[in-house]
Parts: sequence; C-alpha cells; structure tokens
Amino acid sequence: MTLEPQSGLFADASLRLEKALQYVTLPEDALEYLRHPKSSLSVSIPVRMDNGSLQVFQGYRVRYDDTRGPTKGGVRYHPKVSLDEVQSLAFWMTFKCAVLNLPFGGGKGGITLDPKALSKMELERLSRGYIDAIADFIGPDVDILAPDVYTNPMIMGWMMDQYNVIQRKITRAVVTGKPLAMGGSEGRDEATGVGAFMVIETIAPKLGLVPAETTVAIQGFGNAGSILAIQLWKAGYRIVAVSDSQGGIYSAQGLDIPSIQYQKESTRRLQAVYCDGSVCSVVDHQAISNEDLLKLEVDILIPAALENQITEANADQIKAKYIFEVANGPITSAADTILDRKGIVVFPDILVNAGGVTVSYFEWVQNRSGLYWSEEEVQQQLQKRMVKATEDLWHLAQKKAISIRTAGYVLALERIGEAIAVKGTRDYYVRA
Ligand code: NAD
Repeated sequence: MTLEPQSGLFADASLRLEKALQYVTLPEDALEYLRHPKSSLSVSIPVRMDNGSLQVFQGYRVRYDDTRGPTKGGVRYHPKVSLDEVQSLAFWMTFKCAVLNLPFGGGKGGITLDPKALSKMELERLSRGYIDAIADFIGPDVDILAPDVYTNPMIMGWMMDQYNVIQRKITRAVVTGKPLAMGGSEGRDEATGVGAFMVIETIAPKLGLVPAETTVAIQGFGNAGSILAIQLWKAGYRIVAVSDSQGGIYSAQGLDIPSIQYQKESTRRLQAVYCDGSVCSVVDHQAISNEDLLKLEVDILIPAALENQITEANADQIKAKYIFEVANGPITSAADTILDRKGIVVFPDILVNAGGVTVSYFEWVQNRSGLYWSEEEVQQQLQKRMVKATEDLWHLAQKKAISIRTAGYVLALERIGEAIAVKGTRDYYVRA
C-alpha cells in the first residue's frame, strides 16, 4: 500500500529537500525516488484490555528509502501519531543516517494512543500485537526498530521477543535500544543526549561559547532532553529552564539538574519540583509554560520534545542566539526563514540527535558479530562519528554559504544520490 499525504508535516519536511537541491547536482531519477516513500503499512492492533473489553489501536510503519541499507527508525507511542507524522520521521531518518554515513536507510513506526492511560500488561499486549501485525515488513536486513517518544528498553525487549516467537529463532538485530540483558548495547539509552552534547562541545569553541557564561533552556525532559541536561550541567553550562508535557521551571541563577532529575524519576512530574521541599530549596524555582520557555533570552535553546514547536506563529518572538534541535522537526520551514532573518543559527535534528541511531547501529553490529563492546569503546566510536559529522556540516555550510540544515541535506543527498545512481540512471540507459 502506498499512501502519500499531500499536506501537513511531510509536505513541510519535503521543502527542506527541495531547498537543498539548488546546491547539489543529482540525477533526476534519484530525486524521483526520494520524493516518495518506498512503502507504508497501516495496521489495526486488537488488544484485550485488563477489564476484559477489546480495543483496537491504529499503528503504522513506513520504510522511506533503503538505497544505502536496511531501513532503521524508532517506534513512537503518542495520541498524535498519524501516517503523515510517521512518514515525515522516516524521511528525516533517511537523511540522518546518510549524514552520519551509516549503512542504513530511513524508517519509522508509531501507534496512536495515550500510553499513560494503559497498564503495563496492556502495553505489553499492544507492543506484541504491533509486532504480530508488522512482522512480515521488518527484519535485521530489512527494517530495524528502535525507541522513540514514550517507548523504552522494556518495550523494545517485548518487541524483539515477539519477533523471535514468530520466527522461532533468536534474531536480536531486528530491534535496537533493548535492555542490556537481551543483547542491548552499552551507552544506547544515553546515546541521543550524549551525542547532542558532543555536537554542542564541538561547536561551542567555534562560536566562542564558554560553558560558565552560557545560558541554556531545554524543552522536554525525557530520555534525550534529561540526559543532555545532565551532560551540560556537568560541563558547567547554566541551564535556566527545563520543561515537560505538564509545564516547566525557571531559575535565572541556573537549575540544579541532578536533583530535578531525581524528583522527576521519583514522581514522574517536573511539577513536583514547584514545591517548597528539599529539592526546591536547592535553588529558587519559578513555574514557566512551554510557550514562554521557547521565548527566553538565552544563548542556547534546545527543543527536545515534539515537532512543530517553533512555527510562523512564534518564530518572531524567539530570542535565543543558537538552537540545537534534539527533537525531530521542532522548527517548521517557514519558521526557519524567520529565524534565519533574525540571525539565529539553527543546528538541525538530522545532525544533533543522530547519536541515538549511531549507537543503534553499534548495537546492530554487536548483535550480528556476537562480540560486545565496552562502554568506553561505544563512547569513543560515537565521539569520532559525531565530531566528524559536525565538522563536515560546519565546513560545507561555510564553503557554500548555506545554513547547517541545508548543508546536512546536501551532504546526505550527495551520498544517497550516488548510491541510487550506481544502479543506473536515465542517462546511462539512454546513452546505451
Ligand atoms: P521521551 O518520551 O523520553 O520524552 C519526551 C519528553 O517530552 C517528556 O519529557 C515529555 O513530558 C515531553 N513532552 C511531551 N509533550 C510535550 C510538550 N507538548 N511540551 C513540552 N514537553 C513535552 O522521548 P525522547 O526519546 O526523549 O524523544 C524526544 C525527542 O527526541 C523526539 O522528537 C524524538 O523523536 C527525538 N529523538 C529521540 C531519540 C531517542 O533515542 N530517544 C533519538 C533521536 C531523536
């Protein structure tokens, strides 16, 4: 089945591709391939709920392009998951894997639900049901799953286990982000936040940023946002605001991130930090909305929650000097133009959050070779790749006088285009 939404997030995401085309020479055939997702699957997942009732959930899996290798991408559990969103996320994964020069194409999956409304048993039945529905569409050499918003190592473990039950053999490499005891990799859980930190640390000296004098605001305090917050805090950056789906907290002097993380882990809500208890006494907090956090006058703004947070409606009010996109697609293409006009420099998702898929690649390699790496080896390999990709995009952007985002698409297009072209293009056949 091929479904191609004509408007919305995917249409907006495609504009980045069209923009980059001005700066790269690509065979027309390659472009024609890249404008369309390879395949899209839409499934209904029946789940027996704890109260005995039956509920059917809507799920998706999109394989956008597999020219450079099996498709790879996370699975999202969220009430707003739609085919349009999953397709856009699979599109971004295609370019991200190419920017990092990983031997993968782009894929993504999702289920439309509020995961907080389900019990753990219901979540397990749903996750296994999703794999039952998509098993013929995935595989370690075809399409590999990973965690995304509101999915975690335990859910990845259930998914791999269900795939093994169906295949009647152990196939660890079909899912990454698994628990260590099920063949996961050291460092995978922290990889997205750690990778984003490596990008910031590579860029900071070029921008003349000194940690102690650099203020940071982070929207989203989940896996990616909270790990990055800890890394920045340890390096001495002044994090003045953080938020989650319930709202945020602000302190001009800088927040004490480890105690906030402790509170969040024990209560699951940042709101718990608004109190007068021991954590609040560490530093004076003020409540701040997610909308206001984005408009703070800070050196670095980090959207680490969901897409479409900075749009035409609020881009004019953004006062940060630099934005590092940890979330996928937090800035629309129209907002990009406004931010550019205001002189705000954006470091794009396809670079900044690529640490996750890079360590997923390491996990896939380890599963297939049967040889497992130490945490130091993982960190060294990740550092090497994140620094190289950051330097590549920085220099390409300077050389061509384009944004770092466009540089990312140009580099990825060159790599994907070359792989498509070697299969034979129109020129090749016409000449023959
Ligand atoms: P997560 O589920 O661990 O955390 C999501 C966070 O966002 C939570 O703190 C949640 O409360 C917050 N949030 C949700 N809605 C919000 C809203 N409207 N305003 C503010 N905060 C809100 O998810 P994650 O894995 O940290 O993913 C966050 C982003 O990073 C997503 O865009 C995801 O695609 C991207 N990403 C994640 C990974 C990964 O390995 N986890 C890799 C690459 C990209």
